[in-house]
Amino acid sequence: MSKTLVQNFGKNVSFKPSVFVEPKNEVEVIECLRKHRAHAVRVMGSRHAWSEAIKTGGLLMSTRHLTQMELTPGFQSVRVGAGCKIKHLIRFLKKRGLTLPSVGLIDEQTIAGATATGTHGSGKHCLSHFIRSVRLVHYEVTTGEPVVSKIDNGAELSAAKCSLGLLGVIVEIEIEVRSAYRIEEHSKQHPSLASVLEQEKHYPLQQFFLMPWSWDFYCQHRYETSTSISRTAILYRLYWLLGIDWLLHFVIVLLTRFLCTQRFIKLFYQRILPKVIIENWTVTDDSHTVLTMDHDRFRHIEFELFVTRSNLESALNHARETIILFGEHSNAKQPPVSLHKQNRSLYCHHYPICVRRILRDDTLISMTSQADLNSEEDWYSLSFISYQSPHQRAGFLEFANSLTVSMEEKFNARCHWGKLNPLTPSTNQKLYPHIKKFREIANQYDPDARFANAWLKKSILADQPTAISRTGD
Ligand SMILES: Cc1cc2nc3c(=O)[nH]c(=O)nc-3n(C[C@H](O)[C@H](O)[C@H](O)COP(=O)(O)OP(=O)(O)OC[C@H]3O[C@@H](n4cnc5c(N)ncnc54)[C@H](O)[C@@H]3O)c2cc1C
Repeated sequence: MSKTLVQNFGKNVSFKPSVFVEPKNEVEVIECLRKHRAHAVRVMGSRHAWSEAIKTGGLLMSTRHLTQMELTPGFQSVRVGAGCKIKHLIRFLKKRGLTLPSVGLIDEQTIAGATATGTHGSGKHCLSHFIRSVRLVHYEVTTGEPVVSKIDNGAELSAAKCSLGLLGVIVEIEIEVRSAYRIEEHSKQHPSLASVLEQEKHYPLQQFFLMPWSWDFYCQHRYETSTSISRTAILYRLYWLLGIDWLLHFVIVLLTRFLCTQRFIKLFYQRILPKVIIENWTVTDDSHTVLTMDHDRFRHIEFELFVTRSNLESALNHARETIILFGEHSNAKQPPVSLHKQNRSLYCHHYPICVRRILRDDTLISMTSQADLNSEEDWYSLSFISYQSPHQRAGFLEFANSLTVSMEEKFNARCHWGKLNPLTPSTNQKLYPHIKKFREIANQYDPDARFANAWLKKSILADQPTAISRTGD
C-alpha cells in the first residue's frame, strides 16, 4: 500500500491507493499500465470532483506532467495534454487571440478531468461537447497489452467526450477553440422566474440565483458584445473579488461554521444581502474574467441537479419547499415525530442556488446530453452548495440525498457526475437514453472494467461483466 493519502478539494473523499504514479509522457503511461497490470486503475486530474470518481484502492495515476499544448493548422482547435489546467490553456490561447468555447465557474480543473464529468458554464454546451478527438491508452483486448487508440468519430467519440475515465487513460484531447470575445454584464433583481426567463432572449449567457429565505431572484444578465472593455471593469472586478468572492463568502463561512444559527442566516438573506448587492452596474470585460469566480478560496461541497426547461419552475418550487422543510425543523426545539422517525439531521440552507442554462450536448452520458429521444429542450442546472466544515455536513448530506431522490422521481432530474451523486444504475438507465450504448463502448475498450471503481460500477456499469478480480477494485 502506498503511503499517499489522497483527498479531493471538498475533503469528502479520501483514500490510499496501492500505487501512485505520475508519468511524464505517453510512453511512461504505457509502461505504468504494463507494470501494474494486476491493479484496478483510476486517473486523477485536479481532484476537484466531489463524487467518488477518482477513488481507488489500486493504481492511481496523476496526469499533472501531461501538459503540452499545440494549435492545429488553421487555429480551429488545440491539441492539449490531459493534465493541462484550464487556466493554463486559456492563458496560452489568449496570447494568440483565442479562447475556449465554454468554461465553468472556476478554471483549476484539468482539461481531461473537466470534460470527463461534463463540466459546463451558462448559455453554451458543456465543454465535452467541443472535443474533436481523444488519445487513449487502454489494454488491448486480445493481448492484454497497453496500447494507444485515437478516437475521432461516431458513437465512440460521443462516448469518449465524457467518459469518467471508463474507457482508459486519456493522454491528449483535441478541442475546438474560438476567437477571444468580450461579455457585457449587469446584475438585476427579479420578482419571479418568468421575469428572469423573459430576459434570456436578450442575454443568452445569463445565469441567476434563487436566494434562500428571501426567495428573490438575482440575475447576472450577460451577452457577447463587440464593444471594448469598460473603464470601470477593474473596479467592478475588485468589487466582485473583495466584496462578493471574499467578504460575502467569509461572512457565510462565519455564519455557518461558527455561529451555526439559522436565525442569523435568515436575517442575513432577508435584510442584509439585498442592501449590498449593486444592481444595474453595466460592465464589459474579457469573457474569461466575467465567467469565472474565486469562491473556491473557501472549502465547500456541492451537488447539482439538471432538469429540462419544462420542469424548471416546478423543480425550483420543490427545492424551495424542501429547503423550508429542513430549515424549519432545524429551527424547532422538538422536530416533528415524522422527522424523528426518519432520523433526519437538521440543516439550514445557507447559499444562493445558482441556476444555469446548458444547451444539449453531442455526448452519450454528459448530464446535458439529450433528455429523451423525442426531446429538444435545453437543460437548466440547480447548484446547492454548503460551506460547513467537513465534520458539520451530516445535515447537508441528508438534504442532498433527499432532494436528489425526490427531484429524480418528480422531474427526471439528473445529477452532476463530478459532484455528490447518489443515483443508481437503474435510475441512470432511465435518465440517459444512450447509456446502454455507452456501456457497450466501455465494454469494448475495457471488458474487465479494469478502469472502473466501486462507485462507477454501482452508478453506471452495473450490468457489465467483471470477470477478472483486480487489486483495489
Ligand atoms: C470550486 C469548484 C467549482 C466548480 N465549478 C463547476 C462548474 O462551474 N461547472 C461544472 O460543471 N462543474 C464544476 N465543478 C466540478 C468540476 O469541474 C468537475 O468535478 C471536474 O471533473 C473536476 O476536474 P479535475 O481536473 O479536478 O478532475 P478530477 O476530479 O481529478 O477527476 C474527475 C474525473 O475525471 C477523470 N479523469 C481525469 N483525468 C483523466 C484522464 N486523463 N483520463 C481519463 N479520465 C480522467 C477521473 O478519473 C474522474 O473520473 C467545480 C468543482 C469545484 C471544486
